Amino acid sequence: DPKEALLRVRDVVVRFGGIVALDQVSFDVPRQQIVGLIGPNGAGKTTLFNCLSRLYETTSGGIELDGLSILNLPAHAMAARGIGRTFQNLALFPSATVFENILIGCHTRTHGNLLADMLSLRRSRQVNRAAAVVANELIAYLRLGEVAHRRVAELPFGTQKRVEFARALAMKPRLLLLDEPACGLNHEEVEGLADLIRGTQRDFDLTVLLVEHHMGLVMGISDWIVALNFGRRIAAGTPAQVQANPEVIAAYLGES
Ligand code: ATP
Repeated sequence: DPKEALLRVRDVVVRFGGIVALDQVSFDVPRQQIVGLIGPNGAGKTTLFNCLSRLYETTSGGIELDGLSILNLPAHAMAARGIGRTFQNLALFPSATVFENILIGCHTRTHGNLLADMLSLRRSRQVNRAAAVVANELIAYLRLGEVAHRRVAELPFGTQKRVEFARALAMKPRLLLLDEPACGLNHEEVEGLADLIRGTQRDFDLTVLLVEHHMGLVMGISDWIVALNFGRRIAAGTPAQVQANPEVIAAYLGES
C-alpha cells in the first residue's frame, strides 16, 4: 500500500538509568514526505535518531520500516535496509577527498562498515566503476565538481555539509535522516539548503525525517511536524498547527 507510512514509531521508550529520554513516543513518516522533528535542547531528538540508526537500544516500543521491525538489526545493516543519515557534527573522513568520501557512501550500502571500506579502498587503490559513476553523478548534482579531488579538511564547513549530504544520498536511502543540517550554516547557505532538501526529495523519491532547530527551515520545508519535550510527544500536525500550539510555544519560551 503506497499510502502506508514508510516509517512507524510506536510507543518508543528509552531510559538511561533514571533518565527517561523518550517516553512512549509514536508517530508515522508517510512515504515521500518531509517530516520535521522539533523540540528544545534535551527533548530526545538525537536519542530518537540514534534509535533509528540502531546506535541506541530502545527500552520498549516498536520501530518499523516498510512494515518490518528494524529492532533486531545491527547498526551496520541500516544502509542496506534503506536508511541513510547525516550527523550534527559531520562524520566525514577529513584526509580523504570529496570523491573518496562519496564513494564510501556507495560502498556502505553493500558493505555496511564505513571504516573497513575506507581502509580496503586505500590499500587496493581499486575503484569499483559502477560506484565511481554514482559518485560522479552526485558530485555533479551537488555542484561539487570543482572540489571533487580536494581533501575534505581543506574545505569550508558549508561545503563539507554538502559532501556529507552527497555521501548519505550515495547510500541510495529510502528514508533519509538529517540531523540539524542547518547548524553552523550562514543565512544564504540555509536558503540553499531548503532548496536542496526539497529538490532532492523530489528527484530521488525520498522520505525525509529532519531534526532541526532552525525554525524557518523546518517550518518552510516540512509537510508534517512532530514536537517533543522532555521525551514526550507534545504535538503533531502541519507546520501552521504546531506553531500555534500553546504547549509548543510554552516549551520554547521555557527554554530561554
Ligand atoms: P539537542 O537539541 O540539544 O541535541 P535532543 O533533543 O537531541 O537535544 P537528546 O540528546 O536526545 O536531546 O537527549 C535527551 C535526554 O537523554 C537528555 O536528558 C540527555 O541528557 C539524555 N541522554 C542522551 N543520550 C544519553 C546517553 N548516552 N546517556 C545518558 N543520557 C543520555
